[in-house]
Amino acid sequence: MLIMATIGASICVSMAGWRLYGSARQLSESREWLEHSQSVLFDLQQQSQRLDRIEANLQLYQLTRDDNDLRNGHSTVVSLYSGALHLQQEVADNPAQLSRAQNLEKQASLLVRTVDSFTTSSPFPSQQLFANRELLGVMQAAERELLATRTEAAKASASRSLLISVSFTGLSLIVILVLFGFLLRDALHRRRYEEQLSEANEKLGGTIRALERQARESDLLTAARDELQLCMNADQAQRSAARYLSQLLPGTSGGICLINDSRKLIEVDAIWNGTTALLDAFAPDACCGLRSGRMRWRRPGQSEVHCEHFAGKTPENYLCLPLVAHGETLGMVYVECCSAGIAAMVDANLRSLQQMVELASIRIAGLNLSTILEHQSIRDSLTNVFNRRFMEIALDRELRRAIRHQRPLAVLMLDIDHFKQLNDTYGHEAGDAVLREVAAIMRRAVRSEDTVCRYGGEEFVAILPELAIDDALARAESIRQLVSELRLYHHGESLREITISIGIAIYPQNGKSPDQLLSLADRALYEAKHLGRNRVVLAEQLATIPPAGPSEPETVVY
Ligand code: GH3
Ligand code: MG
Ligand code: MG
Repeated sequence: MLIMATIGASICVSMAGWRLYGSARQLSESREWLEHSQSVLFDLQQQSQRLDRIEANLQLYQLTRDDNDLRNGHSTVVSLYSGALHLQQEVADNPAQLSRAQNLEKQASLLVRTVDSFTTSSPFPSQQLFANRELLGVMQAAERELLATRTEAAKASASRSLLISVSFTGLSLIVILVLFGFLLRDALHRRRYEEQLSEANEKLGGTIRALERQARESDLLTAARDELQLCMNADQAQRSAARYLSQLLPGTSGGICLINDSRKLIEVDAIWNGTTALLDAFAPDACCGLRSGRMRWRRPGQSEVHCEHFAGKTPENYLCLPLVAHGETLGMVYVECCSAGIAAMVDANLRSLQQMVELASIRIAGLNLSTILEHQSIRDSLTNVFNRRFMEIALDRELRRAIRHQRPLAVLMLDIDHFKQLNDTYGHEAGDAVLREVAAIMRRAVRSEDTVCRYGGEEFVAILPELAIDDALARAESIRQLVSELRLYHHGESLREITISIGIAIYPQNGKSPDQLLSLADRALYEAKHLGRNRVVLAEQLATIPPAGPSEPETVVY
């Protein structure tokens, strides 16, 4: 369109130029023709004056007989003749005028001859002069007519030229205006297009940035999921989640807080970037997020109500997200933002934050559950010491280790004396309480690396690595003593004295396999019962250690 308009404008301007050039040339030609006619008229006028002068000179000569007058008449008639020749050349373009000029030249030639032979007595050449004047008159009339026609033509040409100039100038102006309009429209289109392009570029940049952020967040979530899967317990999972939350939300600080076993206290278990404002422990009601059961922002302009889990200065911008898994509230995630800009960044990453919190919740809940299950599968539910199945595994493992390191290992088998009678006297519940208390004494009396198990009924086994005969006897005696000192009350009633018998088998002296050690410890226990109960017997010698003297009973009130 623009190219066509440019071509159109060029053609119009060229045509206007060409037309103006043509008009100028026509005007110039008309002017030349006018000048030519005027020149012819001027020459005809001169010829006419010459005729007058010739007539006057000849008349004077006949009156005065002065030769000077004749000479003057003679020179004038020569001029008349040469003027007639000149006129022939001038009107050569006009056949009618040319023929008249040729006649005039003939008449002038006759007059020249007449004047040459003129004397005072010669007849006056009135006829010839008249003929010349007549011819001059006809030529003048024709030339004037021609002049009038040419003047009219010149005027018409000038008017036409003016009209054409004005028309073409107007047309060119219109075309230029149209062209300018196209250029303007094109410039506006281009500007709009550039604006759209820059807008599209900006949008594209934003999309790319968002995609990059999403990819980074997705990588982070995948890495967090993988690492959480590797965690062996809830503590590890919390620390790991805190680390990933600090990467996901740079510039923030915060903590992962879990509800404790009593479900009355929220404890801060893992923090990132050293948040200072949060209390170490607080009641669940102190958190508005936990009270409402959903994520909650506290920031100026959105919510002015503060949570009450802060020590010192309360921050302005923070977010509390309940940690919920399988419908159970495990605790909360606290995110503290030091500025409104950081809070806006957290808002932008909210979806990923919620996903990560969800991952952490599920993993922590899973680990809690597996801890419970594991506990249940290897521990005796009544006494909370290990069960017989675990004891067999532990004994096998500890014995292998003792053989490998050439160290001794003691196995204590323990049985409560006359327990059936105790059950019958005080009831099964009291018997359970006695079982729990004896187990607790055993746990307290051995080292953390030792293993205490309920072997069955009212029998217990303790596996004590690296304990030789003397130490094993001393440890067994200490347990026996502690149990005998126990004073228990059930429903306000004092239970009778509790005593135990203990059989001991030692690796390597008594056996080199778990079965050998267990059966020898059992035999030693049987021997202790046989010898009167409330005593310790070592399998090797099957020696009886007499009960120690009376000691201050330990009292536990139920
Ligand atoms: P001894 O001195 O010879 O060992 O006599 P005893 O009565 O302790 O031995 P016995 O094997 O005759 O009785 C064991 C009793 O332990 C029988 C059973 O009712 C009781 N018992 C086993 N398991 C439990 C338990 O989980 N709770 C309670 N309360 N009693 C139990
Ligand atoms: Mg028994
Ligand atoms: Mg018993």
